[in-house]
Amino acid sequence: MAAEQPKPQTRKPVLLSKIEAFQDIVTTAVIIPKEDGVISVSEDRTIRVWLKRDSGQYWPSVYQTMSSKSVASRSLVIYIYIYIYIPEFILAEDYNKMTPARTYQAHQGRVLVVLFVLEMEWVLSTGQDKNFTWHCSESGQQLGTYRTAACVSGLQFDVETRHAFVGDQSGQVTILKVEQDSCSMVTTFKGHTGNVTALCWDPGQRVLFSGSSDNSIIMWDIGGRKGTAIELQGHNDKVQGLCFASHTRQLISCSSDGSIVIWNMDVTRQETPEWLDSDSCQKCEQPFFWNFKQMWDSKKIGLRQHHCRKCGQAVCGKCSSKRSTIPLMGFEFEVRVCDSCHESITEEDRAPTASFHDSKHSIVHIHYEATTGNLLTSGTDKVIKVRIGCCASPLVGATHWWW
Ligand SMILES: [Zn+2]
Ligand SMILES: [Zn+2]
Repeated sequence: MAAEQPKPQTRKPVLLSKIEAFQDIVTTAVIIPKEDGVISVSEDRTIRVWLKRDSGQYWPSVYQTMSSKSVASRSLVIYIYIYIYIPEFILAEDYNKMTPARTYQAHQGRVLVVLFVLEMEWVLSTGQDKNFTWHCSESGQQLGTYRTAACVSGLQFDVETRHAFVGDQSGQVTILKVEQDSCSMVTTFKGHTGNVTALCWDPGQRVLFSGSSDNSIIMWDIGGRKGTAIELQGHNDKVQGLCFASHTRQLISCSSDGSIVIWNMDVTRQETPEWLDSDSCQKCEQPFFWNFKQMWDSKKIGLRQHHCRKCGQAVCGKCSSKRSTIPLMGFEFEVRVCDSCHESITEEDRAPTASFHDSKHSIVHIHYEATTGNLLTSGTDKVIKVRIGCCASPLVGATHWWW
């Protein structure tokens, strides 16, 4: 008899462990791949390595205290950004020793994002000096620098084509072609009305996700080559982090109100239509309030203009009195639709394509580890939580762990 598949949208997140020893917020933490370990970097100025003991609890293994605030780390070689420097540590294979290796003097202002590209042996970084720089992690030499339009808070890199994606505080994403010692601007994506707060690149499908303080996520389909950009509306607050689970094709996003949303990216979504312009309702033909001529001719009162989110038509309030979710257009919340579109949306169309979870505290950082499928979050409660992820890796076994 075939095993019954649990429904992906109904399971609750399963909390595996908590790490609660911090004096301040953990700004970055990573699950050590293939190990039951975590590296954490906290505003309490500590960089710590935690290993999971047989009891299931994480115990401190080794730590360093920095003289100034540190805000990030990456995998086995640890890169921290403290004010204007990026110190590098090498972690012993048994995780019991952390040795300072080098310090990159990368920026003239606070370092904002650091990304280590193992394949290139590059350390990419952005800072408050509005510079994007890259260093060779072998020699420690700075290879190049590029001035960005605004402070960059999201950074991703495509190894195959050597493109860097930089998301900035003006809300745009700039695509840079990075050579060994030079870099040129390829194009710019504009779509957010707030800061870009997080970026996530899926090299398999060649899709870039950008999260913003405007509460939305945009999926930029680069691989599709048609210029498709799909907005995902499922957060009520600033999007703070994004991760993509490629083997289950799920996007995990978190926001400052503590919600974690897991998006099924295995469905085909449509772009939202452009909003149409009209001087009168495109359903009942009543004039909008600026259309004095028609108001006078027909002796009618001018109405306020609204737009149907499904067809984009300009409609009056009476002709768009109903609300609906349109998950396949990215609207997981109810939005305004015109009456005829409301009739055309079936119950099946309304089936959510994302699941929503409350972590109870504002999340500042998330990290997804693909080999175990575990998800790590850290929040304003100064606690790191490790949860069973979306799906166990095919390498580990065929068991599906749904949320
Ligand atoms: Zn109308
Ligand atoms: Zn409509």
